[in-house]
Amino acid sequence: MKLLRLLPIGDIDLRALEQVGPLIAQQFHVAWDIVQPGFDPQFAYHAERQQYHSTELLARMTGFLGPECWRMLGVTGHDLYIPILTFVFGEAQMGGPAAVVSTHRLQQEFYGLPPDENLSRERLVKEAVHELGHTLDLRHCDDYRCAMAASHAVEWIDLKENGVCPGCNDRMAPLLPVQKKVRFRFF
Ligand SMILES: [Zn+2]
Ligand SMILES: [Zn+2]
Repeated sequence: MKLLRLLPIGDIDLRALEQVGPLIAQQFHVAWDIVQPGFDPQFAYHAERQQYHSTELLARMTGFLGPECWRMLGVTGHDLYIPILTFVFGEAQMGGPAAVVSTHRLQQEFYGLPPDENLSRERLVKEAVHELGHTLDLRHCDDYRCAMAASHAVEWIDLKENGVCPGCNDRMAPLLPVQKKVRFRFF
């Protein structure tokens, strides 16, 4: 069976993964599980930026791929970056198979606001669907409600739906492990 596998990276609440797993997986009509144990991301920490290099995490994740893995999503509580940007919410390998997302800047506490677990989870689902969409070759979408819309701040994430728009859906559908059955028509 082809699975969406969630991989905990460093300090991450497993309960949160259990809650978001089904919500992410249902967007791709795929079964899912959590890989355990995950790994310690210390090797990707860069002291001069006090952040973790997401591309280095993605490279390490390829060692966890098995034949049962359809896509692998790393989830971490640490702050991620790529060298040309101050931070990233996540990063994906275009066309697959791996993506990584960070909950660090999805939490209200990061912005000096009271914690809101539900909002953090919603944002994590949207961000996960977005990065997994990139692993299905989807690029950024102009529809601000689509999960594939670009977002450089959490306010933009909050405007999005969990899922992708019909246009993005048509593009990714052939790459999903379970194809929707086409009704046979009699003429
Ligand atoms: Zn993107
Ligand atoms: Zn779209």
